[in-house]
Amino acid sequence: TYQCMSKEKLLKIRKLNCNAMTMKVTNYKKPLFIHHGFMQWLWDVDGSRYLDMYAGIATVSQGHCHPKVTKAAQEQLQRLWHTSAIYVHPPIQEYVEKLVSHLPEPLNVVYLTNSGSEANDLALLMARLHTGNFDAITLRGSYHGGSPLTMGLTSNTVYKYPVPSSPGCYNTMCPDVFRGLWGGSHCRDSPVQTIRECSCPPDQCHANERYLEQLEEVFITSVPSRIAAFFAEPIQGLGGIVQYPKNFLKEAYKLVREKGGLCIADEVQTGFGRTGSHFWGFQSHDVVPDIVTMAKGIANGFPMGAVVTSEEIAHSFAKGLHFNTFGGNPLACSIASAVLDTIKEERIQENCAVVGTHLLKELAKLRDKYEIIGDVRGKGLHIGVEMVTDKASRDPLPPEAMIHIMEDTKDMGVLVGRGGIYGQTFRIQPPMCITKEDADFFLAVFDQALNNYMERR
Ligand code: PMP
Repeated sequence: TYQCMSKEKLLKIRKLNCNAMTMKVTNYKKPLFIHHGFMQWLWDVDGSRYLDMYAGIATVSQGHCHPKVTKAAQEQLQRLWHTSAIYVHPPIQEYVEKLVSHLPEPLNVVYLTNSGSEANDLALLMARLHTGNFDAITLRGSYHGGSPLTMGLTSNTVYKYPVPSSPGCYNTMCPDVFRGLWGGSHCRDSPVQTIRECSCPPDQCHANERYLEQLEEVFITSVPSRIAAFFAEPIQGLGGIVQYPKNFLKEAYKLVREKGGLCIADEVQTGFGRTGSHFWGFQSHDVVPDIVTMAKGIANGFPMGAVVTSEEIAHSFAKGLHFNTFGGNPLACSIASAVLDTIKEERIQENCAVVGTHLLKELAKLRDKYEIIGDVRGKGLHIGVEMVTDKASRDPLPPEAMIHIMEDTKDMGVLVGRGGIYGQTFRIQPPMCITKEDADFFLAVFDQALNNYMERR
């Protein structure tokens, strides 16, 4: 047991003084008191170890306190923490050069921020200035931030307040081929098949067209003419790891550009190799966005975000003076630089592909075993397991049941996340260093938790 305040006192402070809402969103009835972490593991104050299959919502990319990343942080801590952007501090430039080498042309101008919300705020402003248009469209179920501006982009009421949202933000139907109106397994860009078969023959699948019509309809019902931006996560994260039909994003980009808008890929969860097949999520859609936003895994959990765009768009944005005191501070840049180095040195992206595919295949077996698993999907270490009351109705498994399974999983030493508009999807987004053995441990625990639930329901 580690030294700390009593659990009762910690909970009291958390409830009274520390973001009162937090208690509502604590995932567990018996809260977890975390003390420290190393790579894919977390330890609680009583010394119990947990396999972290959620990584603080995909924020810890390399592993908790990854030795190389920690060393880079320690060295920079002793050198310089902060410098004003008016001086040239070499590590910042060195990092930016490294980052753009991972992006396709013409994406080579970087703006560093402190969070994903800040990055999306900036991207929206940039799109408005560049296009001279105002409106933005997002997909339902998406999360793009909690700032007043990005709250308008976010399309999940759990994260919205009953005050007027940022004006000019509209949404369209999310092309969800499991829960949505159209689509099925072969529509999806995924190596693992789902139980749902598309109602139309594979060579004549219309799901894509139908969802695109929904997007077109926004231009008839909500947006008078031209737009500034279309934001989409390459695979929805908080929305429940939702993958779109093949070519949806490509066609949507085409339509948006015809309407004068910029296409913005929110890579906050999908970036930095997590999807395994590619470094960025947008690459598996065969598109090049006009702006890419990133955060979370960019610095292995250290607060940082970034916006990357073309010189042309950056030029339009240069009409005003953009300033961000902490954005791109030397500490964040040194950490983010070590993150890029370790992704390469430790073949992290490949690990995401190998362990992720193993997980997807094994989870698909559990889906066939249990009536309450409706769908297994995702790419690399970005996986969703959608829970239902039964396969025929596909009604979302109620929150009490989800929490029960999650709690049981935790009590057996594994942490998972939840997402989806009904909170019906387990999210598996572990640190990208997990091994096949870790994956098998998780699978055994999850299997047991499902079994326990089925026996008592
Ligand atoms: N975009 C996506 C896809 C996210 O998942 C999040 C955070 N959950 C954000 C943006 C906002 O990032 P932050 O919390 O760092 O502001």
